[in-house]
Amino acid sequence: MSEPALLEVRDLDVHFPVRRPGLLRSPLTLRAVDQVSFDVRPGEVLGVVGESGCGKSTLSRALLRLIPVTAGSVRLRGVELTTLEKAALRPLRRSMQMIFQDPLASLDPRMTVGEIIAEPLKALLPRMDRAERQQRVLRMMQQVGLLPAQINRYPHEFSGGQAQRIGIARALVVAPELVVCDEPVSALDVSIKSQVINLLLDLRAEHGLTYIFVAHDLATVRHIADRVMVLYMGRVMEITDRDALYARPLHPYTRLLLSAVPIPDPTLARQRRAAPAREELPSPLALPSGCAFRTRCPLADARCVAERPILREIDGRYVACHHAEAAGA
Ligand code: SF4
Repeated sequence: MSEPALLEVRDLDVHFPVRRPGLLRSPLTLRAVDQVSFDVRPGEVLGVVGESGCGKSTLSRALLRLIPVTAGSVRLRGVELTTLEKAALRPLRRSMQMIFQDPLASLDPRMTVGEIIAEPLKALLPRMDRAERQQRVLRMMQQVGLLPAQINRYPHEFSGGQAQRIGIARALVVAPELVVCDEPVSALDVSIKSQVINLLLDLRAEHGLTYIFVAHDLATVRHIADRVMVLYMGRVMEITDRDALYARPLHPYTRLLLSAVPIPDPTLARQRRAAPAREELPSPLALPSGCAFRTRCPLADARCVAERPILREIDGRYVACHHAEAAGA
């Protein structure tokens, strides 16, 4: 029997009311996350990919209850998180941590590295004595490649890559099970990106971690994800094992994203099927009827206008497209 999922997400909605000018006009609803369902298995890396504005960051924050959810279910090891009171959620915070996109902006500039990494220990393990806390901080610094002598330095004294190492140490020092990495390398130079990704992979192996790794392009997640979930306008378009997704994307939007990934082999690059033309994203406040991707999709037909595609299984993969078989042929 396969191991139960660490995280189960079902029909998750995160909606925001948006006021319109004019006294009597009712607010519009921004559906930042719209009926999203997926599982994360213990020890796996689920890559979450989509263009800016597709709901990735909102989803990340909603999973950790950093923002309220509108409807749906998020279960961590079977415990429903969406209905827990703040006090009951607190002990679970140790199990789920987040690594943020902009390392320097996410670290308090008035605190030393030692204080920054120790802060979650103080908040979540208040009974831990000072000496043990110091030991944990130093051990964590060493594991992420920082020197003990840097413990009293301030964030502005570090490069972007080193600052992200501090952010990683801060997230992992409480020994979480699940880490949501919200675009942790998009602000970094290319050479530093791969160092940080390799560090995250080493730490996963060492600590048995599970990651949700968010990125806006498929090239970044290719090196770290076991499975990939593609989001578009807050909806899941495709969830597939990494190798299958790169070899044969079934959703036209996945094909569009993949067309931006450089291929080193010129023959393969020539063989790559023409991707749909890039056009502007629709307004999230006025999504098209039926399939949200239809205004950019070369396969769109009357059914796509009338009927929203549901996520369905095709050869062990999950795709939300009426014509996925034709798109992947
Ligand atoms: S459902 Fe229709 S519009 Fe949407 S991706 Fe599939 S073919 Fe394109």
